[in-house]
Amino acid sequence: MMKSTKENKKRSGSFESFRRLIDFAKEEKPWFLRSGLFSILNKIFDIAPEILIGVAIDVVVSKETSFVARFGVIEPWHQILVLAVLTFFVWVFESIFEYLHLISWRGLAQVIQHKLRTKAYAHLQSLDLGYFENQSTGNLVAVLNDDINQLERFLDGGMNEVVQTATAAVGVGAVFFYLSPEIAWLAITPIPIIVVGAFYFQKRAEPLYAKVRDQVGVLASRLNNNISGILTIKSFTGEEIESTKMELDSLDYVKINSKAISVSSAFTPIIRLGVLSGFLATLVYGGWKVLHGSLNIGAYGVLIFLTQRLLWPMTRLATTVDLYERAMASTRRVLDLMNIYPAILSGPLHVQKIRGHYRFEHVTFGYESGPVILQDLQLEILPQKTTALVGLTGSGKSTIIKLLSRYYEVTQGNIYLDGNPLQDYNLKALRKRIGLVSQDVFLFHGTIRENLCFHDETIQEDQLVRACVLAEAHDFILTLDKGYDTVVGERGQKLSGGQRQRLSIARAILKDPDVLILDEATSAVDNETEAAIQRSIAKISKNRTTVVVAHRLSTITEADHIYVLDHGKIVESGKHRDLLESNHIYAKLWNVQTGGKAMTSNHEIFRNQS
Ligand code: ATP
Ligand code: MG
Repeated sequence: MMKSTKENKKRSGSFESFRRLIDFAKEEKPWFLRSGLFSILNKIFDIAPEILIGVAIDVVVSKETSFVARFGVIEPWHQILVLAVLTFFVWVFESIFEYLHLISWRGLAQVIQHKLRTKAYAHLQSLDLGYFENQSTGNLVAVLNDDINQLERFLDGGMNEVVQTATAAVGVGAVFFYLSPEIAWLAITPIPIIVVGAFYFQKRAEPLYAKVRDQVGVLASRLNNNISGILTIKSFTGEEIESTKMELDSLDYVKINSKAISVSSAFTPIIRLGVLSGFLATLVYGGWKVLHGSLNIGAYGVLIFLTQRLLWPMTRLATTVDLYERAMASTRRVLDLMNIYPAILSGPLHVQKIRGHYRFEHVTFGYESGPVILQDLQLEILPQKTTALVGLTGSGKSTIIKLLSRYYEVTQGNIYLDGNPLQDYNLKALRKRIGLVSQDVFLFHGTIRENLCFHDETIQEDQLVRACVLAEAHDFILTLDKGYDTVVGERGQKLSGGQRQRLSIARAILKDPDVLILDEATSAVDNETEAAIQRSIAKISKNRTTVVVAHRLSTITEADHIYVLDHGKIVESGKHRDLLESNHIYAKLWNVQTGGKAMTSNHEIFRNQS
């Protein structure tokens, strides 16, 4: 079977996701450290005023024997003035570092989200066509947008929160142990309980948030599908049904999110109880010590204020862990996407030009996990000639065409191009030399000019006009209100099918490819468009290897070689005239299409032959 796109299926935990994120952002390590330093300094200056209050109480109570007096300032009034100056600077520095850590973390969040988004997108683009066929567009958009924004929110404020809580614990703990080790032990006992609680909560929340993110993807893909398919929904008056489906998906999101919220909310009261016990212990035991003369009043004041400083920020831990879990669930989705690698790898052969001599040798092919589509195919496409493929719908014509640019790998056999195995070619170099007008023309939301020149910014106005004249698109473009600058709407929906097709041909001409491939749209275009397309093909296929898939045989009567396909096999081949003379399948198809035997269907012709 075909080698499938490699995918790392293992779902990693949030710590693992965090480690992978740090690894991804390792170039920003200095920035991380700098931001962390600003957070730490801000926190130190933030808790300093509480210490200064205690010192001030100590000054008015102990006067000449106070803590400050030890530094040589004996006069109590002078001690107060010294404290005032210190307080002033503490506040100034606190504000400065507040500003610095805010812009530093936010700046870092911007850099990382930008880098992650652009890298994830570039990686996504490198994946095989087969990968995209198995994905929902909405979900991929959700990964590249919502998930990365979720991470951005955590980096904006959450990282600072973590660093500052840790700083407060260490800093305040140190002061506590300096002032009274016994009270310190009592005050910090709740911390391990809180930390264990945080881990427990985090473990329970992790799978819930993974589900929340997946449901975001489900919602996004439904929205994407429905908005793109609005015409179908309206024409089948399916608005109510789709609204109900949307509502159910949204309800699922609410349910999963509510579960996560209830787990996260239960955590805060537990923390508050821990905080309260630490605070009460300090208040009661510290008070008892002051009353018995074994603790100074200033130190008691500092301890009371600092327990608040140490413990209350921990109540915010629940919110931070919540933000962290959501962010890591998202990060995992983005990094997992970047862990998928294309199975079709580029070869070493960099070519500036190809002749376009293709040889299929015993090629068998099936799409991933699907049935065999092409069986033991022997086929040759000659350089500078026009080769046509005809056959019933589903017989494998478009599949052959996709193999020519190696969008898929053959299951068995080999395709040679100009004598070399197709796998030897550098993929980009190869695809640069092939122009494909596919069956379902895709136009981007933008102007006609942007759509035609997006692959090459050096295209000049006269080249553009020449290509459009050749594709017989120039005249209709001029009738549009803004000519070449008319916006075509998403997928080109403001244009008619035939107009889109002509633009697609113009786009291929501008590429000036060595091999031109035209997969004719099944939907019938009017006679005038058909004739126009035929004339363009005749002109542009001159001295160029051209492969045409034709539904209307009248477009390929001049082809140098015609292959007739049935169920992935070639059942007939030759020139138009020879095929007519042999009076086999092709001749019968021709008769049907030209009105000779109007009652016979295509299917009957093929069935009668097999
Ligand atoms: P048409 O004339 O309708 O364009 P075709 O000859 O171009 O038909 P293909 O598009 O090559 O037919 O499809 C051949 C078979 O391969 C069909 O049975 C189709 O269902 C299947 N097929 C096509 N594309 C895929 C895909 N991406 N994944 C799985 N199966 C596919
Ligand atoms: Mg097709």
